Amino acid sequence: MADTTFMDKLVSLAKRRGFVFQSSEIYGGLGSVWDYGPLGVELKRNVKERWWSAMVHARDDIEGLDAAILMHPRVWEASGHVAGFTDPMVDCRTCKARFRADKLQDAQCPQKPSKHPGEHSTCDLTEPRLFNLMFKTFIGPVEDSAAVVYLRPETAQGIYVNYQNVLNSSRQRVPFGIAQIGKAFRNEITPGNFIFRTREFEQMEMQFFVKPGTDVEWFERWRQWRWEWHLALGLTPGKLRWHEHGPGELAHYAKAAYDIEYEFPFGWNEIEGVHNRTDFDLGRHQEYSGKKLEYFDQAANERYLPYIVETSAGADRVTLTVLVDAYREEQVEGETRVVLGFHPALAPIKAGVFPLVKKDGMPETADRLYRGLRAGGIPSFYDDSGAIGRRYRRMDEAGTPFCLTVDGQTAEDGSVTARHRDAMTQERVALDQVGAFLRERIGP
Ligand code: ATP
Repeated sequence: MADTTFMDKLVSLAKRRGFVFQSSEIYGGLGSVWDYGPLGVELKRNVKERWWSAMVHARDDIEGLDAAILMHPRVWEASGHVAGFTDPMVDCRTCKARFRADKLQDAQCPQKPSKHPGEHSTCDLTEPRLFNLMFKTFIGPVEDSAAVVYLRPETAQGIYVNYQNVLNSSRQRVPFGIAQIGKAFRNEITPGNFIFRTREFEQMEMQFFVKPGTDVEWFERWRQWRWEWHLALGLTPGKLRWHEHGPGELAHYAKAAYDIEYEFPFGWNEIEGVHNRTDFDLGRHQEYSGKKLEYFDQAANERYLPYIVETSAGADRVTLTVLVDAYREEQVEGETRVVLGFHPALAPIKAGVFPLVKKDGMPETADRLYRGLRAGGIPSFYDDSGAIGRRYRRMDEAGTPFCLTVDGQTAEDGSVTARHRDAMTQERVALDQVGAFLRERIGP
């Protein structure tokens, strides 16, 4: 059974501390659309920046791209989304709720006691019908069908249609990749589990173009690299696993597909997919656009349509994974301490800066330290209200790895107390060494 209490606590902490708010909350909210608050936007940016840095900056065989959300409608015919991007949907004639026919075991009938849809004697489910997940909108003032465009349901297609532009404008040769981070939209039938499945989300996708015949080898390399990336976020290794798509699950275009799954409180679920897409995508765009998309391999003096190995992760899903993995409650001196134990590189605030008391020049020294850290690019938070223990707890809940307190000893020897979030140990650090102390521990 899903641990709903854990998720309730996390959602409430996320709101209280400014990580995630429900969209348009003052109007009652909009189903499965969420907004990131001051701390959430930093956390998600840190996730995206780590991805970009690993995929684009650290490698010389991948280029970045930022394609538009709106694309020519033929793109979605070529990709197979118009015909096939559907989920089977069933309605209940009794309670009017709607469910994904293939996920009934994960859904709850709104009637009490809680059961899966179809399990109450009064449940009356329709036959499954196919429902296209793409959002439609119109270009221009006339709402006729000629002007229908879609909000992209994945970022990958923007990469395929630009593959030759990138090749022609860069020094790349096959094998090479194109990486992109951007919004995608899916009119999910049963979204939910907070920011796990939403209707508007961000993807971090990379398409790697390889010579046919070398695809299996590249696929294995990419599986390994993506696994290591998730581990380097500090996720609990035992909560990650591979799920291989069996013959029944494999998408029509894929030769092999593996998902990296995380054990959420609501069960094991996909956070990233690694797919061997063969030459399906370029083949289809070549056919539908009438433009040759073959690659001329000068070294081998041959032409071919590259195969594509795709790595596709959700920025919101990875952010949720980081939040879930970081959340813990501990008993400390008879009180419950709630901690978000983020990897320091992901933490939205790196340091809390406090004057022990509001006198004896402590606020002035703390304020100077705080401004210096911010100016040096270290996101910090100044807090002089309440007992020091309470200030620590607030920073624990925000996932801040270090707290720096200006106290009586500071005026004597120019040092501050540095308190570590996880072990709660303290040490003295010289004021002029604080920046270096933090940088060393925050890491890249
Ligand atoms: P699912 O089976 O969960 O619907 P999918 O197999 O359709 O996912 P892909 O199309 O492979 O997912 O998308 C790649 C990644 O994009 C997923 O691993 C996930 O991290 C993210 N993603 C997909 N749909 C959503 C969504 N509705 N909300 C948030 N993230 C999503």
